[in-house]
This record gives sequence, C-alpha cells and structure tokens, in this order.
Amino acid sequence: MSQWVYSFGGGKAEGASGMRDLLGGKGANLAEMANLGLPVPPGFTITTEVCTFFYDHGKSYPPDLAAAVEAALVEVGRLTGRSFGDEQNPLLVSVRSGARASMPGMMDTVLNLGLNDVTVLALAKSAGDERFAYDSYRRFIQMYSNVVLGIEHHHFEDILEHYKETKGFILDTDLAAEDWKKIIVDYKAKVEHALGKPFPQDPKEQLWGAIGAVFGSWMTARAISYRRLHDIPASWGTAVNVQAMVFGNMGETSATGVAFTRSPSTGAKELYGEFLINAQGEDVVAGIRTPQNITEAARINAVSDKPSMEVLLPEVFAEFMRTTNLLEKHYRDMQDMEFTVERGKLWMLQTRTGKRTGKAALRIAVEMANEGLITRDEAVSRVDPSSLDQLLHPMIDPEAALTVVAKGLPASPGAACGEIVFNSDEAEQMKTAGRKAILVRIETSPEDINGMHAAEGILTTRGGMTSHAAVVARGMGKPCVSGAGTLRIDYEKGTMTASGKVFKKGDMLTIDGGTGQVIQGAVQMQQPELSGEFGTLMQWADSVRRMGVRANAETPADARAARKFGAEGIGLSRTEHMFFAPERVVAVREMILADDEAGRRAALAKLLPMQRSDFAELFEIMAGLPVTIRLLDPPLHEFLPKTDAEIAEVAADLGISPDKLTRRANELHEFNPMLGFRGCRLAIAFPEIAEMQARAIFEGALEAQKRTGELTKPEIMVPLIATKAEFDIVKASIDKMAEAVRQETGQSVPYIVGTMIELPRACLRAGEIAETAEFFSFGTNDLTQTALGISRDDAGSFLGAYTAKGILPADPFVTIDQEGVGELVKIGIERGRKTRPDIKLGICGEHGGDPASIAFCEKVGLTYVSCSPFRVPIARLAAAQATLRLKAEGLA
Ligand code: ADP
Ligand code: MG
Ligand code: MG
Repeated sequence: MSQWVYSFGGGKAEGASGMRDLLGGKGANLAEMANLGLPVPPGFTITTEVCTFFYDHGKSYPPDLAAAVEAALVEVGRLTGRSFGDEQNPLLVSVRSGARASMPGMMDTVLNLGLNDVTVLALAKSAGDERFAYDSYRRFIQMYSNVVLGIEHHHFEDILEHYKETKGFILDTDLAAEDWKKIIVDYKAKVEHALGKPFPQDPKEQLWGAIGAVFGSWMTARAISYRRLHDIPASWGTAVNVQAMVFGNMGETSATGVAFTRSPSTGAKELYGEFLINAQGEDVVAGIRTPQNITEAARINAVSDKPSMEVLLPEVFAEFMRTTNLLEKHYRDMQDMEFTVERGKLWMLQTRTGKRTGKAALRIAVEMANEGLITRDEAVSRVDPSSLDQLLHPMIDPEAALTVVAKGLPASPGAACGEIVFNSDEAEQMKTAGRKAILVRIETSPEDINGMHAAEGILTTRGGMTSHAAVVARGMGKPCVSGAGTLRIDYEKGTMTASGKVFKKGDMLTIDGGTGQVIQGAVQMQQPELSGEFGTLMQWADSVRRMGVRANAETPADARAARKFGAEGIGLSRTEHMFFAPERVVAVREMILADDEAGRRAALAKLLPMQRSDFAELFEIMAGLPVTIRLLDPPLHEFLPKTDAEIAEVAADLGISPDKLTRRANELHEFNPMLGFRGCRLAIAFPEIAEMQARAIFEGALEAQKRTGELTKPEIMVPLIATKAEFDIVKASIDKMAEAVRQETGQSVPYIVGTMIELPRACLRAGEIAETAEFFSFGTNDLTQTALGISRDDAGSFLGAYTAKGILPADPFVTIDQEGVGELVKIGIERGRKTRPDIKLGICGEHGGDPASIAFCEKVGLTYVSCSPFRVPIARLAAAQATLRLKAEGLA
C-alpha cells in the first residue's frame, strides 16, 4: 500500500529534499527544513501520486486517504497544541499546491482555512485582537470563494467599497471589528446568492474543497499551457501541502517577507529581500504596499526612508541571517525563501533554488566555485547556456542622450525598445506582424505570460523586485522595469502618462532593466563586454569541452564577432551572401541569364576579383584558423531581377531586349525551388561557377598570406550531394583550379574538399562518398526538410499543431529530431568513419547553436559544431556541459 501523506514539523519529517518527485518541490523542501531543525510550522504533504490516482480514477481519492489526512491533522494539532475544527482552540491551516517544478497557473494558496462563525471567536480571543480575527475571516471568505468556489474577487471588492463609501471610510485600516462583521454578513450572502448554498462552515468540508481545488488546478488551461511551454509532462502531478497557519498580521512585531541568499539580479553575495510589517502571505508579492528592505545595507543603497528589518526586529534578523546561510550551504546553491514573523518569532515557509538572471547565474557559479562551495565543473554545469543570451543582448549606449520620463525598479537586466502595447493580445499581434513591443501594465498576472513572451520588454507601474512581472521576466531573460510608480496608465483610453507627456499605443519606448529607466523613443544600443565572470566561466568550460566550436560567418563583421565570441574557425561561409550585395547582383544576374558558357564566363570574370578579396579578408580575419567555404548553393531564381527597373538595367548590360530577358527569367521559374536547380547541381551544369569560386579561394588564400604571413588551409564544401559521382565531378574541377593556380603563381595552397551531408541518400551512401570527400558537415536544416518532407518556410501553418498535440516533441528546425534525422546523422557518421577513420565531422545547421542538439552532437561524436556568431558562447558552454554529462553517465 502506498503512503499518501507525509508529515513534517517539530524538528523532523517523513520526507526529505530528495523526494521532490513524490512531494513536489515545496513539500520536499519543507520536510528538509524541518529535518534541519529550522522553525517550520508543522504540516503534511499529500503526494503527487494521489494526483495521478485522482485523474486515473474519475477524480476520486484513494479509499485510505481520508484516514491518513485525519491522522496527519491530529499530529499537527498535537505539535501546535490546537485541534482542527475545535471551537475553543482551533487549528487553522494553509492549503498550498506544489508541483516538482514551481508552476504558475496552479491554484493560489488559501490561507486561514478552518475559520467559521464560531472559530473566529476563538481566534479573536487567543490573539486578544478581535479586529485581526474578523479581518482574517473576511480575507479567508474572499480567498476561498475565489480560489475554490470560483466567485470573482470584484464581487467582494464591490461590497467593501460600497461599505466604505456609506461610512465615509478611506482606508481598510479605518474599519473596526464591527465593520468587518457586517461586511462578512454581506460576503456570505453574496456566496449564498451565487452558489445557491451557504459558505461552507464545516472546516473539514473547507479542507477537502481546497484539496480538490489544488488537484483540479493541475488540468486548467493555464497550467496545461505552462507545462507545454516548459516541457513538463502532465503525468508528474502536483502535491498538496497543508500547513499550520502562522500570522504575520498580528501587529507591529509581526511581518512577512521573501528573500534570496544572493542577488537574483546581479548575483552579488548579499542578502536580498523585502518584507512588510503586519501583513500576511502574498501582500509582498502582490505589490499592494511597497515593501521594506531586510538589511540596513540594502536600505541605504536603495535610499529608502522605511526602516529595515535589521533595525526593527534585530533578534529575528540575526536568526534569519543564520538560517539563510545554513540553507545556502546545505543546498549548495542560492536560495529563494519565504518567511513570516509572528509576534517576534521567525517561521520559515518555503525555500527553493532561486531563479536568477543570466548575469547573476554566472557570477554566483564562479563565486561559489571560488569559495569552494562547488567545483568548477559544477559551476560550468549550473549556468543555463541559453541564459547567456541576455548577456549578449544590447545595452543602452552610455553616450546616448536620453529623455528619461520615469524610473522604476531594475527588475530584469538588458535594454529593449519597441512600440507601446497595453495588453497581451496586442503584444502577440505586434510580434506576429514582425514588430517589437514593450508591454506596459499596471501589474502582470499569469494571464499575461504569452504577452510577456511576445514583447521585447515589460514595464509595470506597481510591484517590487519580487512581483510577478519581475520574477517571470527574469526567468525569460526579458528586460523588465517594475514599480515605476509615477507612471499613470489608463487602459480604457489606451494611454500612459509620464512626466506630463501622454504616450499612446504604438509610440516608441525604451526601457533599461538594468537601471530602471523608462526612456522616450528608440535609443542607440551597444554590445556588452565579455570579460569578468563570463570570461572565467568560458575558460572553465573550454577546458572540459571535447567538441570544437566554429561559427557560421561570411561577412567581415560576422567573422570578427565570431572570433570575439571565441569561435575556433568558420564552419560555414555561405558564398551566396557575397553575391547579393547590390553592386554585385548585376554581374550575378548577367551570369544567370547569359545564353551560353561564354556569356557566363564574361560575367563570372567580373565577380572573380570581388570574391577573391572577400575570401582574402575572411582568411585574414581568421588568421590561420580553419575556414569552410561552401560553393554557391541557392536556387538561381533568387537572384533574378524582379522589378521592371531591374529587368531594364540587366537587359541593357546584356545588350538584349527586356522582353527576351523576361522570357529567359520565366524559363528559370521552378515549382519547387528547394528541390530544384540548386546546390552542387549548379556546379554540375555550369562548372565555370565552381571554377571561379575555387580560383577565388586559392588566390584569396595567397593574398591573405602576403598580408599576414599565415597561409590558411581552406576547406571547400560541396553542397547538396546525393551521389559520389556528383561530388567527384565538382571535386575534379576544384583540383583542376588548384593546379592551375599553382602553375600560375608557383605556390600551392593546401586544401581539403568535403561535402555537406544534407540529403538522406547522402547519409546512406556516406561510406562511398567518404572515399573521396575529406570531411562531412551535416547540414541539418535541409536534412530535416528532406527527411521529414517538411518545407521549413511553409511549416508555420501546421507545425504548431504538431508540437501542441505532442506528435513532435519540439520544433525539429530548432531542436534536432534525434529519432529520425539523428538516426540519419548516426548512419552517415558510422559509414563515413568506416571508410575514413579520421574524417572531420561537423554540423552547420541552426541546430549547431541549440543546447539540446549540441548534447546530441557530443553523443554521436562530432568533431565540431558551427553556429551563428552570437550563439558561439552558448555552444561553448553547452558543449562543455554535454561532455560533463557524458562523463557522469559513464561513471554511473
Ligand atoms: P506560492 O507558491 O504562490 O508562493 P505559497 O503556498 O508559497 O504560494 O503561499 C503564498 C503565500 O502564503 C506565501 O507568502 C507564503 O509564505 C504564505 N503562506 C503559506 N502558508 C502559510 C502559513 N501556513 N502561514 C503563513 N503564511 C503562509
Ligand atoms: Mg511561495
Ligand atoms: Mg542546405
């Protein structure tokens, strides 16, 4: 028989932090804290297995669950000296959801459960504070009715507002116990009216209602959509935590707060947190009152005139600091904690590994390794490679003149600019239209997740550094400014007023999540420095990484960026990009539209010097590092003149009539260009194109050598090979050119010729292709298209449905389809290596910069990955992590 319920409290627990699959993150860590002897209000966790049972059995519970809950409640009562439902000495509890991974979209916590018309009297008596008791009761009715019974908040707020108006009250604090009593009567009437039955007075009924609501929330649309976005399987289920209440709202020596052991924004090793005196639960996060700093240092730094916890409650503060240090050492990672102080006594309510910005992740990992808390390998493993993205994001140019219209909290670093939108739908529409949006909200809630994803940055007028907007934005790596209190937003009118200026939807705005500045208009941006912790961690990563990391680059700017980001060579240089430049495309068009070989050669002769100097420059920048150059690949029609003016220009150049030219262009039209006249097929039909490019490569290498003294060994890559025969024909013309250049210059350039493996047939015939091909580079973009028979450019209309329905685990153009495309890659590697054991093997599709795909590349033993320059650091780190993971698996 399964154990459905695990108790904690009183210095021990049945669970432990290792049991998060069963107890959920919150439950496992509450148990662990209890085991550590920390002050945790006693309680129990109903396991995730009950959730699974619930959904497997028509939403019913295991028969023996009720008895187990009963027994656990008795134990909590014993530890607190109270009894659930008792009229004299009632135990009150919170009911909290808690999945393995923390998950917005789940049921909100219900506090003060167990209160009713009778137990409220006992609470008033034991607290010696009637007002507190009735205030708690009305909060409970509203919360429970909303979360469990589905009655919207505003019904209750309307009642309260109405009452205040008739009495001439302004603040909630103006209301006395008698007032709350009257409001409670109205609240209960509202519930009865809405449900046709009274608000449940029986604590047991309340408890089971709340438990059912937690399990029910696992399958809400919000939760399902969050799980889909974060690859969380529905089978995991959520746990339910039931825990004795402690009260942060029992007067001036009571408080509630949240804290991180290090700054989640910068990673600095200093306690970072906020609290509110005389407040309960989520008041801090909700952003209704502006919270106070915990440490004096932070208060001074924030220039706040509200006293810190260090000054207000020095003894509690000291114990809290001891506790946070202990937790960080114990978990060996930065912790995010919730706590409550009830009449001078500290209670820990939650701890978990804290979410952090990419910048903070780096700093924390490096500093913890230097402190000896973790190893360097662990430091390398801990930084999410994709999070480096934010560090490589633009920042506001310090020289730029700024019109700052407001200042908020620097909630998530990075700068962003875009057009103002006021809700999620607008943000998504903007994104779909290919435009950039800044989402401006009074505050955000889980319903805004999609809009936050779609926006470049988020700006809120309310809420602290731990508000919903701030936490979620940091998780997404999006710039965010929160709590910009001087801004006025009018959703109805669609306006934002700042410094007396009125902004409308669509107006350009810039935010700086590193400083909290809100700036009018679009601002000049700048690339960040790559030194400090970033450099250190990269070094550590490089020292464990097995695979090489190259960049896909063809322009000098890209090549320079690639080197700056640590690329060890160029894995793919697409020569057609050099053809598209406006001053060249005319010659390219002449070549394509020429009637015969002589005409083509004439046009190619114009292109040769330009290509030669392109390659020379590329080789010069790469200074002897390997450079892979792919011969012309795209369908020729991409270069054709489109407008009448372009047609006239080319016709004049060629000395033919525009009509004739149009006819020739129509001949080149293809029904399916992706599978048409492209790749090596161009070089087969028009060998002179490959010859010109090969000559430009060899002559370029010699030219660069004159300037730098280093001779690059070019790797010439033939695209879209299906057969060895194709490859051999193209290779022959390259070899011929090498020989020609040698004879002309008396110098020979070392080079190798290889192929892009991007057709399924090439994978299957890799064994014989490798007889002459000296390297393979897997072109997994085309290989994915041709293996799945899905055109990437046309996939938009249906691929979403495929991933949503779980037919494909992820977009195969983002993360390699390991089972299908991956199998082809494996076959290609195996057969290629059998023929040529030391064959160089790389990958140069988009996948080369995707951490999950990089892990696959490590497993199958590729020599290197190649990706866009800005993803090079991500690939270096991901490759190192893949090596470490493989090692760990090897030991296991
Ligand atoms: P979330 O996962 O949204 O943080 P929690 O279950 O942690 O939800 O609770 C919400 C708020 O209620 C937190 O501030 C938490 O500290 C507080 N809270 C939860 N349980 C108790 C309790 N037993 N006594 C006092 N406050 C509680
Ligand atoms: Mg919490
Ligand atoms: Mg291709």
